[in-house]
Amino acid sequence: MKAEIVAVGTELLLGQIVNTNAQFLSRELAALGIDVYYQTVVGDNLQRLRQAIEIARERADLVLFTGGIGPTQDDLTKDALASYLGRTLHIHAPSMDKIERMFLSRGAHMVESNRRQALMIDGSDPLPNETGLAVGNALIHDGTAYMLLPGPPKEMKPMFEHEGKRWLQQRLLTNEMPLFSRMLKFAGIGESSLEAKLIDLIEGQSDTTIAPYAQEGEVTIRLSTKARTEEEASAKLDVLETEIRGRLGAHLYAAENVAIEQVIVERMSAKGWTLSAAESCTGGLLSEMITAIPGSSRMFAGGIVCYSNALKEQLLNVPHAMLEGETAPGAVSAETAQTMAEQMRTIADTDLAVAITGVAGPGASERKPVGLVYIAIAQKGEPTQVEKLQLSGGREMIRLRTVKTVLYHLWRRLN
Ligand code: ATP
Repeated sequence: MKAEIVAVGTELLLGQIVNTNAQFLSRELAALGIDVYYQTVVGDNLQRLRQAIEIARERADLVLFTGGIGPTQDDLTKDALASYLGRTLHIHAPSMDKIERMFLSRGAHMVESNRRQALMIDGSDPLPNETGLAVGNALIHDGTAYMLLPGPPKEMKPMFEHEGKRWLQQRLLTNEMPLFSRMLKFAGIGESSLEAKLIDLIEGQSDTTIAPYAQEGEVTIRLSTKARTEEEASAKLDVLETEIRGRLGAHLYAAENVAIEQVIVERMSAKGWTLSAAESCTGGLLSEMITAIPGSSRMFAGGIVCYSNALKEQLLNVPHAMLEGETAPGAVSAETAQTMAEQMRTIADTDLAVAITGVAGPGASERKPVGLVYIAIAQKGEPTQVEKLQLSGGREMIRLRTVKTVLYHLWRRLN
């Protein structure tokens, strides 16, 4: 089944907002086994909206609209589609009741235009709006299905997840076998290197699809297959996962959609191990990511953000001669990273400690290039591991990539 997403809104064309609705819907539809062939953006203009509908109708079996179903005169999606299909609009009584009750409860005067949010195209099914007032519509006309969803993501997402998906399953996907997916999460490898290792599987994919996509500092692969039962799907996905694990096991940290820091928190807690962190250029980002995971208090003792050389000396006992002087290695060096990690581990009395020191930019520091970062992991009874990274990107990117790399090395150590 071919789908097209039509996002309606002049703000999108002006670049005032990002079309996150299309991203969300594309992912959701892919998970349902529906191919999105086109994403269109059109302004709040009746004539151009009509043209967009005409084009979409010719090349898609399912057209999903987001936006333009609110109360104002520039909310035209329902009018445009109704007039294009030669259908009329009527007021959906339960939605109208809800709107009136909302105004009553707030003691506010209801402007007539609010009635527009209860409009339905004749012959369509209502998609109730849990978090807003405008009712969604779904209908099939001359073999093409249309779904109208609100623009605000906080209304659109629950409407699609709870109402739209069910409508698609009941009205359009009845003869299709359900699609089952599994997420494989990778760290410490870029998307292109990962793809190169799997290229024969990706190119030869048949009824099980392999879709890699990169996020910052990690890569996810979604394996999907259609099957009659979950067991049948699992058996097919297991074969592929085993093959991929054989090639990329050193990077595959989870076979479900979890963050690497969560895996680390769980594994360290299970082992009864503790962690502390000494961060310079990442300013506490690593500690933030770890402590965002519920249950991290079982394994994370805390950390020190030692941005200045003075604090590195005072709090972490990094020798002055290591930090400053003509021939000193400097704050951004393997020696300093190692000392920071070892001192942190001793001070916090944890099983492991990590340290990060580097140049996040935009300017160079200590005549060292932007993106040069040293990370160290100290562990009781083990030699301290120090890694030199040369990262690319802007300040935020370098900081994030550093933390992701530290997390990857921590995970490796826990295996
Ligand atoms: P409203 O009742 O708010 O008028 P609506 O369904 O008519 O809802 P729009 O008026 O088109 O929707 O958009 C309302 C707001 O929703 C926008 O200002 C924007 O913040 C958000 N929005 C709209 N379209 C998108 C989109 N494609 N991606 C992300 N956000 C969007």
